[in-house]
Amino acid sequence: MPKPNPRHPNFPIPGGPELRAKGWRQEALLRLLENVLSVGEDPDNLVVYAALGKAARNWPSHRAIVKTLIEMDEDQTLIIQSGKPVGLLKTHAKAPLVIMANCNIVGQWAKAEVFYELQRKGLICWGGLTAGAWQYIGSQGVIQGTYEIFMRIAERRFGGDLSGRFVLTAGLGGMGGAQPLAGRMAGAAILCVDIDPERARKRQQVGYLQEIAPDLDAALAMIDAAVKEKRALSVGLVGNAAEIYPEIASRGIVPDVVTDQTSAHDLVYGYVPKGMSIEQVRSLREDGQGQLMAASRASIVDHVKAMLDFQKKGAEVFDNGNLIRTQAREGGVANAFDIPIFTEAYLRPLFARAIGPFRWMALSGEESDIARIDDLLLEMFPDNRIITNWVRLARKHIPFEGLPARIAWLGHGERTALARRVNQLVASGELKGPIAFSRDHLDAGAMAHPNIMTERMKDGSDAIADWPLLDAMLLCSSMADLVVVHSGGGGYAGYMTSCGVTVVADGTKAADERLDHALTNDTSLGVIRYADAGYDESFEEIAAKGIGHVKV
Ligand code: NAD
Repeated sequence: MPKPNPRHPNFPIPGGPELRAKGWRQEALLRLLENVLSVGEDPDNLVVYAALGKAARNWPSHRAIVKTLIEMDEDQTLIIQSGKPVGLLKTHAKAPLVIMANCNIVGQWAKAEVFYELQRKGLICWGGLTAGAWQYIGSQGVIQGTYEIFMRIAERRFGGDLSGRFVLTAGLGGMGGAQPLAGRMAGAAILCVDIDPERARKRQQVGYLQEIAPDLDAALAMIDAAVKEKRALSVGLVGNAAEIYPEIASRGIVPDVVTDQTSAHDLVYGYVPKGMSIEQVRSLREDGQGQLMAASRASIVDHVKAMLDFQKKGAEVFDNGNLIRTQAREGGVANAFDIPIFTEAYLRPLFARAIGPFRWMALSGEESDIARIDDLLLEMFPDNRIITNWVRLARKHIPFEGLPARIAWLGHGERTALARRVNQLVASGELKGPIAFSRDHLDAGAMAHPNIMTERMKDGSDAIADWPLLDAMLLCSSMADLVVVHSGGGGYAGYMTSCGVTVVADGTKAADERLDHALTNDTSLGVIRYADAGYDESFEEIAAKGIGHVKV
């Protein structure tokens, strides 16, 4: 039985033992599609997160996808082109059930303006990373990544945790909403600015944000008290970051850590320029795009100048993957890239071993299934500090949204081992239903994005998109259930290509084989990608785990 969804009553949370489709594989993908809408930001418009990241092209496409998933056989493959189903072809039971290509525009045309025009004509939609591939699990999806970043900063600069430290950030949307909780888990006093009061309230309702301050003075007083008492605290403030950041700087206050997760990548549908209300911005989105883009860019210039100012005064400042430096540089801030990107600054050694944001969703809808897998993780990896620390924290702090799910940064071999054990628990009936395994597209072999994932690679291979394409082909040959190739839309047009994968553990022998091949090969390619770029950690991993790397 689906569960009621107080946040979006028309989008109940899927669950229960009854199948509508002909098998659990099809039913699983249907539930994941329902889930991304149930936890999405604006499901009435099919928007899941990141301003424009959609689950399907439009409602007729959505209805056709649902009908096809319900009616299709296991030896067929559904083909989806930018959120629209275009074919159901006979393949075989070991082939993917769904393949997708979302928002891939050829090089010279891959620009925001072309994307908006194609979108207006109804020819394309952007799937974000996990929205169009039905893998989004609410703000939890990025929370461990944000937490790990904060902890790397804490280890390098602040003696191991962020207690007694002030973190300033902005953006409380679908992904940015993870920041207050990640900051609190790292011990910080974190201030999160968002222009939209509704977003701040939402994060407070789901338990990710503690307080909402009535104004900047009150917010700073709350942060100051928490810093003095070394008390972890998250405070939201409704305001425009392009005004609030410079105002804090002008008061001579220097936070310890500064970042931003507004939708700065999209100057039309994402970022809100200062001096404009959200309603004014909405009315300009259709017929005042040029004016809106100029105003957004001008505000981002002020926003990034304040970040650079904080950096000069000693704060740890980083770009958290929203293209804010790129937009500022195009607006004339020549030194915007003095701010480092989080991947290169903090996480690359993990990616070089293909350790990245793996996740699983309990299709039964039962939280107890996730709790059992949490126990299993602790049993299987007792000596892995990243995993054990994370699972204990996640259990304590992270409320579930939609289908119960867990993210954990696991690497090569670990993902496969966990998934196969879970498949046994499904088979034995110890879990109440099948489990879907997936990962963020921001993963070792899965993404080329020269201003985020692959910035300043050791060998200069930043812009080469062969890796995610190879990954997708490899995953189709490795029996994954869903395989997708995404490229950037809106402000990300021309900036990225990524690959996503989902495999369903339904307790069968066939699922065991699928999990083994798909998950092992996915991380193998990730390690090989970094070895190819010259990272020592990858060569160690290849030697230790016998990964099939061909040396030239
Ligand atoms: P979202 O569109 O759901 O939320 C963006 C938020 O920013 C909204 O709440 C909006 O009100 C707020 N905002 C816009 N302009 C503002 C301004 N000037 N001042 C204050 N608030 C403002 O987007 P999201 O899903 O939260 O993603 C945010 C950004 O992070 C996107 O660019 C996304 O692509 C990027 N992202 C990065 C990672 C990563 O791995 N680091 C992961 C996911 C998303």
